Amino acid sequence: MAEKKKFARYTVTSALPYANGPIHIGHLAGVYVPADIYVRYMRSRGEDVLFIGGSDEHGVPITIKARQQGVTPQQIVDKYHGIIKKAFEDFGISFDIYSRTSNQIHHETASDFFKTLYDKDEFVEKTSEQYYDESSQHFLADRYITGTCPHCNFEKAYGDQCENCGTSLSADDLINPVSVLSGNKPVKKATKHWYLPLDKYESWLREWIVEGHKDDWKVNVYGQCKSWIDLGLQPRAVTRDLDWGVKVPVEGADGKVLYVWFDAPIGYISATREWAEKTGKEWEPYWKSDDSRLIHFIGKDNIVFHCIIFPSMLKQEGSYILPDNVPAFEFLNLENDKISTSRNWAVWLHEYLEEFPGKQDVLRYVLTANAPETKDNDFTWKDFQARNNNELLAIFGNFVNRTLVLTKKYFDGKVPAPVEFSEPDKVVLAELNELPSRIGRSLENFRFREALNEMMNMARLGNKYLTDAEPWKIFKTDPERVQTILNVSLQICANLSIVAAPFLPFSANKLSNLLNLPAMDWSMAGSPKLLPDGHQLNEPAFLFDKIEDAEIDVQVQKLLETKKANQQETKISPVKENIEYDDFAKLDIRVGTIIEAEKVPKTKKLLKLLIDTGIDKRTVVSGIAEHYEPEKIIGKKVSILVNLAPKKLKGIESNGMILSAENSEGALCFVSPEHDFNNGSEIK
Ligand SMILES: [Zn+2]
Repeated sequence: MAEKKKFARYTVTSALPYANGPIHIGHLAGVYVPADIYVRYMRSRGEDVLFIGGSDEHGVPITIKARQQGVTPQQIVDKYHGIIKKAFEDFGISFDIYSRTSNQIHHETASDFFKTLYDKDEFVEKTSEQYYDESSQHFLADRYITGTCPHCNFEKAYGDQCENCGTSLSADDLINPVSVLSGNKPVKKATKHWYLPLDKYESWLREWIVEGHKDDWKVNVYGQCKSWIDLGLQPRAVTRDLDWGVKVPVEGADGKVLYVWFDAPIGYISATREWAEKTGKEWEPYWKSDDSRLIHFIGKDNIVFHCIIFPSMLKQEGSYILPDNVPAFEFLNLENDKISTSRNWAVWLHEYLEEFPGKQDVLRYVLTANAPETKDNDFTWKDFQARNNNELLAIFGNFVNRTLVLTKKYFDGKVPAPVEFSEPDKVVLAELNELPSRIGRSLENFRFREALNEMMNMARLGNKYLTDAEPWKIFKTDPERVQTILNVSLQICANLSIVAAPFLPFSANKLSNLLNLPAMDWSMAGSPKLLPDGHQLNEPAFLFDKIEDAEIDVQVQKLLETKKANQQETKISPVKENIEYDDFAKLDIRVGTIIEAEKVPKTKKLLKLLIDTGIDKRTVVSGIAEHYEPEKIIGKKVSILVNLAPKKLKGIESNGMILSAENSEGALCFVSPEHDFNNGSEIK
């Protein structure tokens, strides 16, 4: 472990959520809850901490969503910025500033940043051929081109990915590319862009990360960075042809904006400037002073941007500090399946709050207990219920409630003075004294699950102490002993209100109110004298409630329905290639009647049918035996393709094909005329 430096201030950023949809538990678990716990802890320690967040509002997906909905990109980001910001407020994510990249101050900051690097001649200019839509006069981002997938022949594949077979593509791979803007075939046209020459920074990155952060960065983060660097870094375009974003501030760059990956991390700096303007404070020390510690909380999909690209930008700009740590998390799954916005496989924060009002801390607790710190982890509703009922309620809540109720009953809600500490009391108080520093050490090393467990160990300590001491059995005979027991128990409660606050801010605040105490600093934690003798407590109330099976069943059911809907959707097969009318006209389809039906021996699926086609009576072998009983279909009207070349099946010559529909579960049914038309009627 590298020797700990003493920092004058902490600049803590959390990944900017992309403003084209609401946020879900995966976001909360992997970035915002751990960042918030860390920040609340550091503030409680009296450190100067600036906690920065904001919405990432540029980029192609937002423009596509706007087009689809017939609104402007600004309307899209206004909507989702509002929803996201509110979700963070509701869950107690204690940003000092929650900004957004469509703000003027961000456009200025990002533009200036680009200009500085441009003036230092840091970028490489390159001209390349890209798809261009002549009728709408736009260069086309990959997402704006559709065409046939070269792998599966799906005709609506996007220029960056085929959603049918999942293959990553580039627009050049598509067969018959078409512009989404006009429906026309795009042409290739030369366009100039600026590139950040990451290859040039390779030896510096190797020294800074591979050598310099071997011991203090998380294994998953360090490993990913090292393999990126080992693979060799390529120059990366920092601009693109698009009309939504930060305009490129140089001549001859009309119609070009900064690539979203370039402008988004600068959003942390813009947000800090906005905060400084609003509060009248200085922003620069948080970004430019060597005694400031910059920490980025992100998910693992963002590691390359925050560990390699953004630091390279900061380094080349020259006046900024570099991140000291990037505690990236892995992903949270939901009920053993990857969280997916497009499949609606998620627990959305705004929905959670409607269904579990006031239970923000329960979700914060469960997400921290299952935090995907070093590997992907799973959220299940059963575990959510168990952790609430068996841990928060049965241990933490139960201990606090019993202590308060007994104090009210025996001492009229006034803190009793301790009389004499027994050996077990002293052991408990010694443990109480140690726990806060253990929790703090875990948090300082970004081990949030361990820290949460140590916090709960304080509640366990109190709960066990009270249960073992059984004050309710001895009050009549030894009230002085009960004074001491309840004093110790109450001091543990008061300590819990400090150490639980980073994790469970709402409940800790409620606990402070029950104890009639102001919020206290971390430095006071561990003390057995937080509550003075005779201090009047407030009326006891519950900190946590039981979550019933029925509430969990509703959530599980909801997910089952989502799964069902997804399965039906994903089974819809893609549209086949277009055909000419003449091809269709070759099919001779007639109305016919089944006059005989029997099973084909030794097969599961085949029925031998005799059909009156109006033209003749002919034998057809049809694969519907699993869906129809032979005796029940005699007399049924069907559609039959009569000019299909004869084919032998199981030794029987089949003359034609009965048309049937197949649903997503693979069930078959006949396609029959709606009215009782004569045999031989044409179907076209
Ligand atoms: Zn495909």
